[in-house]
Amino acid sequence: MSRSPADFVSHRALGVDASGIRKVFDLAAKLKDPINLSIGLPDFDVPEVAKEAAIAAIRAGQNRYTQTQGIAPLRDRLRADLSTEFGRDVGDVLVTSGVAGGLLLAIMATIDPGDEVLCIDPYFVMYKHMVTMAGGKAVMVSSYPDFKFPARDVEAAITPKTKLLMLNSPSNPTGITMTEAEVKAAVEIARKHDLLIISDEIYEPFLYDMPRGLPSAARYYDNTLVLRGFSKSHAMTGWRLGYAAGPQTILAQMTKLQQYTFVCAPSAFQIAAVTAIDVSMQQHVDDYRRKRDFVYDGLSGKFDVVRPDGAFYIFPKAPAGLTASEFVTKAIDHNVLIIPGNVFSDRDSHFRISYATTDEKLKQGCEVLRSLA
Ligand code: PMP
Repeated sequence: MSRSPADFVSHRALGVDASGIRKVFDLAAKLKDPINLSIGLPDFDVPEVAKEAAIAAIRAGQNRYTQTQGIAPLRDRLRADLSTEFGRDVGDVLVTSGVAGGLLLAIMATIDPGDEVLCIDPYFVMYKHMVTMAGGKAVMVSSYPDFKFPARDVEAAITPKTKLLMLNSPSNPTGITMTEAEVKAAVEIARKHDLLIISDEIYEPFLYDMPRGLPSAARYYDNTLVLRGFSKSHAMTGWRLGYAAGPQTILAQMTKLQQYTFVCAPSAFQIAAVTAIDVSMQQHVDDYRRKRDFVYDGLSGKFDVVRPDGAFYIFPKAPAGLTASEFVTKAIDHNVLIIPGNVFSDRDSHFRISYATTDEKLKQGCEVLRSLA
């Protein structure tokens, strides 16, 4: 009996169910010039000086592997900045292939088969699938309807197998940022039950109502692995640059795993990132704050929606009587592309809008969505 190609596919791969997002892509493919409110990346471009730095690095022949942990000037700078922010020396930093790379290494370095990972629902899709890939179990704790950190339910979901608490603030898909009190509540639970916190802070620069900066668990709890990156902050999603800071024992294991997988983050882009760090992106953040206000004001009378204060997403509830998927199908029939909440959630009640687009498209999209409500 010979094997068919399907017989070569691993149980690990089959265990990952990505049907939700695929359905959206299939629907989207039908549209010619959609009002696209589904894109999870900034609509501005990489700062010119960073592009020039990358080009110069390539021309200068800096096209080879770097040290697995990343180039020293970038690591040193990140270490200094994070140490200032968190009020303690964070130790050496690992440069990763995007935050996605950091997440995968972190999960591979910490999760054994059967280990449980607490995720707050709605959650960023990769968490669930990466935990599944590692043989772990993602345990979802609902934060509906206000998307506040559900401390009591998180604590109730802890079992002897729970190892990790996954936080994402500002959140994809809700745009909600954890308050300092919520972060402290999360830290208290982690400390009491000996959990590692992975804090995905990729949207850290996109804060609209927090002049004192992002409350990070890393300020209060040493067993926090912080993941940040340049994809969103500097619109470099294709450059694949992220970084991890946290317990050095865990970073050492992640570095070892990176050595045998990603090897290193792209060399020229690491060099360019050192330049990019000093470019102020505040104007874009101010611009997105204005877009946040526009979308929230436009939709809040018609939809049940929590005011987001970070990232560039908003997560309204579908109109009464419709599942999110049904509402998204309706919106797509009217040429507006949005994402149904079941891509990010056990529920199919809400939908994600990305407002990282032009004012014109945003206005058109909001008008259509209001008319469908
Ligand atoms: N975490 C979150 C919450 C995200 O939204 C994304 C990107 N959509 C990532 C991680 C991965 O980002 P990167 O491009 O740095 O891999």
